[in-house]
Amino acid sequence: MRLRNVPGSRDYIKECDYAVNEPESLKGIWRSSFKKSDDSELHIEIGCGKGRFIHDLAALNPDICYVGIEKFSSVLIRALQKAELLYPENLLFIRFDAEHISDIFDEGEVNRIYLNFSDPWPKDRHAKRRLTSSQFLKRYDPILSKNGQIIFKTDNRDLFDFSLEQANESGWNIVAKTYDLHSSELNAGNIMTEYEERFSSQGVPICEMIIER
Ligand code: SAM
Repeated sequence: MRLRNVPGSRDYIKECDYAVNEPESLKGIWRSSFKKSDDSELHIEIGCGKGRFIHDLAALNPDICYVGIEKFSSVLIRALQKAELLYPENLLFIRFDAEHISDIFDEGEVNRIYLNFSDPWPKDRHAKRRLTSSQFLKRYDPILSKNGQIIFKTDNRDLFDFSLEQANESGWNIVAKTYDLHSSELNAGNIMTEYEERFSSQGVPICEMIIER
């Protein structure tokens, strides 16, 4: 994602009710911050960008708690501004690097992780920065609930093949996969992300995999 610095975005995030500024303090008690029952599902999107996908998902599923995680303030501010207009009751955001995800979610606390159009980091020496690398899968493992799943979408075939390989090598089960989501049965109920709309409008097929332990 090309990053344009948005002056004041850090201060905006500090003041915004939809941003959790000390996410470590909610480790193990995320559901209570949504005033949801303890058996509500908690789904997170890592690298939520401007938040279009998670906003749409939260509006469609009011009984599920959602957390959007984004590394950069200049991007996250757009998701927060949208929240200030829509007042979702089941959606919060964090400016956070997912590398430290186990600092903010407890064992088994998360039911589903969405990874959408994650940065490909094409150089081999940067492979461990990819959000579907074995290093990241190892970080997701403890925070996911027993039947928890990771759902990953991308336009990037090399990244997709790498991700399938890493999942296999790390002992995850590939529950479903497609190299052309929009023509597959997995497309039922699919919510488009910003990047997905851009790539598919250019005729690029979208890959999706669903994995669990
Ligand atoms: N998911 C959105 C979509 O599909 O439209 C945005 C895709 S954009 C290519 C990837 C996003 O992931 C960027 O906003 C980037 O800042 C964020 N990101 C990359 N690495 C991250 C990390 N380690 N932790 C949190 N966010 C990250």
